[in-house]
Amino acid sequence: MSLNIVRGWTLQQWSEGFYGIYGKNDSFRTLSNYWIQVCNDASKVAEAVRRYELDHAMYHLGNAFCWISCFAERLHADMNQFPIGKQILMEKGPKFQDWILKRYPFVCHHCGYVPCHCALYTEIVEKRNEDEKYEKKYQSQVAAKRDKKHSSAEKKLRKNKNKIDDY
Ligand SMILES: [Zn+2]
Repeated sequence: MSLNIVRGWTLQQWSEGFYGIYGKNDSFRTLSNYWIQVCNDASKVAEAVRRYELDHAMYHLGNAFCWISCFAERLHADMNQFPIGKQILMEKGPKFQDWILKRYPFVCHHCGYVPCHCALYTEIVEKRNEDEKYEKKYQSQVAAKRDKKHSSAEKKLRKNKNKIDDY
């Protein structure tokens, strides 16, 4: 396989590519066990960053991405085995790439703006889970705008779906 072909891969092609390499050998793993591997490599990235060993951070970032990709594909395979899982996949999107695009349709998932405007609402966004007062503010001030922005971003995505798949 040419390196130039891989350079043009979509997120979906990467995740399916990794799962194609490792999925069969890792079939004994539970989802939790997959996620432990993500955490293992993510902690190695954190340690490398703490030591400012950025070349090691890059190395472990690749491993973490590989495990995240394999986790996503395994999650997809497991969910496809049950009617409720299939229903969730219909709502969230049929594949890993769709889940990410649904959450981040090229806009910030909190405020819906590009570039992100969350700095304007930092206190509301960060404290929304701690205090009902902030949750109400979040819903009325941030989420309401976000939902409006997300719906127009999702329309744009649907319109440009083929172009995105060509990335
Ligand atoms: Zn934002």
